[in-house]
Amino acid sequence: MEFTYQIFTGNFYSPVPETPPAQVLREAYKLTGAGDVIIGCNTQNDCYREVIDIAHGAGKNCWLWLPVFSELPEDTKPEYATDLYSNVQRGKSVIPGENFRFVCPSSLHNQDISFNLYVKHFSGLRFDGVFLDKIRHASFAGGFSEGFGCFCESCRANYAKRGVNIEEISAMIRENAADFLPCSARPYSFSNPAAAAFYAAKADIITSAVLRISEKFENIGLKTALDVFMPMFAYFTGQDIPALSSKASFIKPMCYRITHAPAGIPYEIDGMRETFAQSGADVKNLLLRLWETDDLCSFNCAQTQLNLLSCCEVRPGFEINFVEGICESGANYVTETAESLKNAGIKNAALCWNLLSPGALENLKALS
Ligand SMILES: [Zn+2]
Repeated sequence: MEFTYQIFTGNFYSPVPETPPAQVLREAYKLTGAGDVIIGCNTQNDCYREVIDIAHGAGKNCWLWLPVFSELPEDTKPEYATDLYSNVQRGKSVIPGENFRFVCPSSLHNQDISFNLYVKHFSGLRFDGVFLDKIRHASFAGGFSEGFGCFCESCRANYAKRGVNIEEISAMIRENAADFLPCSARPYSFSNPAAAAFYAAKADIITSAVLRISEKFENIGLKTALDVFMPMFAYFTGQDIPALSSKASFIKPMCYRITHAPAGIPYEIDGMRETFAQSGADVKNLLLRLWETDDLCSFNCAQTQLNLLSCCEVRPGFEINFVEGICESGANYVTETAESLKNAGIKNAALCWNLLSPGALENLKALS
C-alpha cells in the first residue's frame, strides 16, 4: 500500500514550523516509501519549494492544503455563519492552532477567499493541485445552535431557490430536533419530508459552492482533491460525497477512530448525542442500529462506510500524530489500521494529519 503524507505548516499567517518539512519528508520516504504530499497552509512559502522538489523527484504529486469554509484570516473579511437563533457562530477551538469557526458557504465573497489566497501567496510554486479542506457546514460537534448549518439571509435565499423555507425548518428544529434524525442509512433517508428536503438543499449548497471553487482552480491548471467526513457524518454537514467528488482526483475520508476533536469519530458521535439529547433521542443506539455494528469506532464499522464510496479514488486518512488527550496514536493503532485498510483493498492511505507532530516518525517506523 502507498501512503499520502499530510503536513500541517500552520495557519495562513503562522510562523514557519521549527522542523523543516523537507527534512521530515525525506526521512518519511526512507521509512514508508515515496508518496503524494498534502502540505499547507502558512504563507511563508520558502519551505514548500524543497518539499515539492522531493515529491516531484520521486514522481509524486504535491497538493496545497487549503481550508475553504473555516480558518480564514480576518483580513480577508470572512462572513461568519449564522446560528439557529440568528446569532453569529462562534465555532469551536479544541486543538491549539486549529479553528472550527465556520463561514457562510452561500456567500460568493467567502467562496472566493481560498482561491484569492492561493493566487496571492502560492501561485509561484509548482503545486500539482489543491486539497480543499473544511468544505462543509459546522457539524453536530458544533452543538445544537450551530450544528444545523447557516441560517443567514444568503442561505435563506439559497434554500428558498431549492424549495425549502428555512424559517419553518428552524422552528421545527427548535420544537423537535429528533425529526431531523435519519430512519435509514446507506444513504441516509428521513421519514419527515421537510427534514429530507432540508438536508438535500443543505448538501446542494455545499456541492455547488465546491464545484464552482474547483472550476476556478481547474481553469488555471490545478487538480483538486477533497477532505471529507466519513459517511456516518458527512451528509449532516452538507457533504453529499458522490456529488461533491464528481470532479475530484481523490477524496480523503477522515477515518479518525481515536480522535477526540472535530472530525474524530468518537468526538462527532458525542456531539451528535448532545445535539439531540434535549429532544430525548438516543442517537448512539440509533447509529448502532442503522450501521449494524456494536462499535461505532471499530475498523469494521469504518469499512462498512468506506465500501459505500465508489466515486473517485478513495484515500482514507488515519492518525499518525500524537496529541495528548486528543489523539494518542501509537504503533499498535497505526499498524492495525494500515493492515486492515490493505486487507480491505485500499491502495493508498493518507497519514494524517501532521507529519511534523511529535510521534509521527516513530509511528512510521512501526509501519515500515
Ligand atoms: Zn449563510
